[in-house]
Amino acid sequence: MYPITWDIISNNYDPHWINNTMEHTIVLNQSSNQWDNEDKTLILGFLEYCFSELHVTSPVTIKLEHEAKENIDIGVKLNLRLAFVDLENRLIIVYCKNRGLLDILRSIAHELIHVQQLDLGLLTTSTQIEFYLPTPDSSGYEFEYEAYGLSGIMVRNYRAVLNGANNE
Ligand SMILES: [Zn+2]
Repeated sequence: MYPITWDIISNNYDPHWINNTMEHTIVLNQSSNQWDNEDKTLILGFLEYCFSELHVTSPVTIKLEHEAKENIDIGVKLNLRLAFVDLENRLIIVYCKNRGLLDILRSIAHELIHVQQLDLGLLTTSTQIEFYLPTPDSSGYEFEYEAYGLSGIMVRNYRAVLNGANNE
């Protein structure tokens, strides 16, 4: 793994995260999410892992919101939404209230996999992906299928990397 550095850009501890020449942004929203130091280390380590595994060709902004407040229509009820990605603006929003850290990491990976699908040219910013009760005939089914499966594998592998590191 390559070294990472970040600038603390506010008292809210929102680092810019620099991947070689590519500067991604993670907004932790420390004041509302109340991460402890171990959480922050795991989140930043997981992002490093994701960007080393995935083909992402330009910067991404990831915002860890506490809960959904504004009714942005993404086709999911406000109280059910966990995360979404705005591919045009390369912006990922993940809602963190009442969720375990591994589930939050899985959501981050899921949306980053959609960014990879964009950067590989598999989908475009106007590709429709159905959320509810998808079947193999649903719009974007293959993209959802990959994002669900691969995100779970990435979290599992990251845990294996951490466990391996702890055993050394
Ligand atoms: Zn998805």
